[in-house]
Amino acid sequence: MSTRDTEILHAGEGVPSSATPITTPIYSATTFTFPNAAELEKFQQGTSTHYIYSRYANPTVQAAEAKLAAAEGGEAALVTGSGMAATSTALFGLLQAGDEVLCASSIYGGTVQVLTQFLDRFGVATRFVSMEALGDVGPHFGPKTKVLWFETPTNPTLRCVDIASVAAACRAKGVISIVDNTFASPINQQPLALDADLVMHSATKFLNGHSDVTAGALVGSRAIIDRVTPARKLLGGILEPASAYALARGIKTLAVRVARHNANAQAVAEFLEQQKQVSRVFYPGLASHPDAAIARKQMSGFGGMVCFECAGGYEGAVRTFDRLKLFQRAASLGGVESLCSLPVLTSQYGLDDIQLAAAGVTRGMLRLSVGLESSTDLIDDLRQALV
Ligand SMILES: *Cc1c(COP(=O)(O)O)cnc(C)c1O
Repeated sequence: MSTRDTEILHAGEGVPSSATPITTPIYSATTFTFPNAAELEKFQQGTSTHYIYSRYANPTVQAAEAKLAAAEGGEAALVTGSGMAATSTALFGLLQAGDEVLCASSIYGGTVQVLTQFLDRFGVATRFVSMEALGDVGPHFGPKTKVLWFETPTNPTLRCVDIASVAAACRAKGVISIVDNTFASPINQQPLALDADLVMHSATKFLNGHSDVTAGALVGSRAIIDRVTPARKLLGGILEPASAYALARGIKTLAVRVARHNANAQAVAEFLEQQKQVSRVFYPGLASHPDAAIARKQMSGFGGMVCFECAGGYEGAVRTFDRLKLFQRAASLGGVESLCSLPVLTSQYGLDDIQLAAAGVTRGMLRLSVGLESSTDLIDDLRQALV
């Protein structure tokens, strides 16, 4: 290599001091330079906020974390490479062999599998409690219960858990309460303000909101985030900077997007409730929803997810599903475009009748992630599909 080659290699690197960008740039660097040994020593002693390596911390990732902490009203946040990375970071960070997790029975399938197929192998047991039992959870705590995990609203029937009441029961017993706030989004519901200890998100959904980033997040007090930070660092679940940039950009429009999701979903739910081909509609913003009162108490909007049951059972659901033109047939949720899924062929696939009944799911159900299109167009699509 010639000197010119060395020059080419190093020329123009680093951050120009004269440039003050309006957004935090994508710091795609995997490592950060130190001016001297003294600075490195200060970093290792924890007395400098220098960056060293992007698996530990990265400025672009931290920009997204700052937005998430602001959105949830938390002191600190951690962004991860997926919602499941957030879940595993929290659980592996907080639990040890001999501990027990109390978990709501209606919960994201991946969370169930981490608990029963991984943590179980490391001596952490899980006990599942019904939605009814969560109404008065105190008597269900055991001597080894360390964490209570739940989500609200749940998938797909949007049942709601009274966050303040569960969080108070947890505080009284020194149990850490963790809420998967993916379906509500922090615009509609802020569990930390209701005394929950930790909020988990699949940022893949409403937070990013454009169906193009897989990411996750944890938000809570500085103390609890400090407790789980080593797990993200050592299990390696941090998000990479380009995706963190996209996530931070998505979060900037979260409030306006969620307001539109809320309004569109309410309009769609009210329309569906009037249709003779629909036997039941599940939306927390409808008076007919079993948890409408809890939802009104703790949510400022009812979200973009709507579930309904076709009067024609599975055949009716399949017929409607296949006829949709604007709603696209896809799993996932929370993006700008409206999606429809068939729970028995996606999130509840392979469950027998007893398990389906326990999850409150029927074969005739369709789940909508109502996007940002015109509500008139969305309703017209559902009308032509419901025959
Ligand atoms: C999607 C989802 C998850 C998992 O998140 P990923 O980003 O797919 O890892 C967890 N909880 C809920 C409620 C979800 O919808």
